[in-house]
Amino acid sequence: MSGMSARNPRTGLIDYRFEAPTADDLGAMAARARAAQPAWSELGFEGRAKILVQFAQELEHQRPALQLALEGDTGRRRIAALEIDSVLGAIAGWNATAPTLLPSDWTQGRSMPNLRHAPQWSPFALVGVISPWNFPLLLGLIDAIPALVAGCAVVVKPSEVTPRFIDPLKAAIAATPGLAEVFIVVAGDGATGQQVIDLADCVCFTGSVVTGKKVAVQAAGRLIPAFLELGGKDPLLVFAGADVEAATDAALRGSVLSTGQACQSIERIYVERAIHDAFVERLAAKANGATLNWPDIDQGQVGPVIFARQADLLAAQIADATAKGAKLLSGGTVESLGGGRWLRPTVLSQVTHDMLVMTEETFGPIMPVMAFDTRAEAIEQANFGEYGLSAAVFAA
Ligand code: NDP
Repeated sequence: MSGMSARNPRTGLIDYRFEAPTADDLGAMAARARAAQPAWSELGFEGRAKILVQFAQELEHQRPALQLALEGDTGRRRIAALEIDSVLGAIAGWNATAPTLLPSDWTQGRSMPNLRHAPQWSPFALVGVISPWNFPLLLGLIDAIPALVAGCAVVVKPSEVTPRFIDPLKAAIAATPGLAEVFIVVAGDGATGQQVIDLADCVCFTGSVVTGKKVAVQAAGRLIPAFLELGGKDPLLVFAGADVEAATDAALRGSVLSTGQACQSIERIYVERAIHDAFVERLAAKANGATLNWPDIDQGQVGPVIFARQADLLAAQIADATAKGAKLLSGGTVESLGGGRWLRPTVLSQVTHDMLVMTEETFGPIMPVMAFDTRAEAIEQANFGEYGLSAAVFAA
């Protein structure tokens, strides 16, 4: 075991200590899960669904502890509750739909029409899941649940930044007969993540592009599949026919929800010139009206930056933009309050594509707004850069 610690995003205090398993311990856990997987697979969908329904009940029993742990991990309350609800929904959803997804029909071969094919889907023996800090429970389980439903054993390695939820999650797993044998959750850092890739037959990774490339390379070295859910720089296009009130509400919400710490946050906004000034004025007014979720965790709209180093990145992007001529219309300063780090919704106008805030993932409540003249130009701007994840359009 090696000792690690985590910072509380609301207080800045290093107030949580935890252990990562040694390579030998993790190897032994993975071997046990692998040995138990055939029996798990043989239970069939119905048998596994029964166990996972009980797991959902055990998660409900652990709800107070999970809620508290997620609040410690992320500094937020309402979204912590939503994370738990989403996981319960995912268990019910996958239990219901998975059996209908199995292919069954024989099909005529296309390259060799004299052959007929019948696909068979078999579970991977051991699926490795590596997850980020922004929605610790939800993203830790988003791939684990369908893999378990499909009959795989699973090992999950959440981010070292948000480890508190692991203990109550493990308690729910331990209280569910038949589950602990095939469902392992381990705390640890990137080194533990690398071990998971070496032990698994397939890896599901959610995280940054930089780490995702390393995961892909390591998985390729073992010739195992890697499913990568990576970062984004998601554009919002607003056309002249749009309702400016609705569009500015959506822009603010889409950028600031979860303090922008979501892969599908709106990260750059392009507005048709005819309504650009009115849009920017309304967006800045609304951004200036948003309040911090501090000191009372039940009040306000904008939570703390979870990962302290992320706050430095936000400050650097704002400094780079303003140094290159962007105009700051709201927010703009990373504040230290009670030891946590906070950024009010930050609207920037007069931005250009040579600013980091328009090219690099931000993962914070920053809204750079740029004007366009034609539909073709709007599409070109939205496609600018190397990221692709989601995009949004407001129009008449
Ligand atoms: P990171 O890429 O930094 O980390 C993700 C996970 O990988 C963590 O558990 C991390 O461990 C682990 N890890 C680090 N190095 C390695 C390695 N060499 N091999 C294996 N695992 C490793 O992402 P963040 O935690 O910073 O999360 C934020 C990112 O996640 C953003 O880019 C965001 O866009 C993206 N994301 C994408 C989503 C999507 O669905 N597309 C959804 C949500 C987030 P540790 O933290 O302990 O170092």
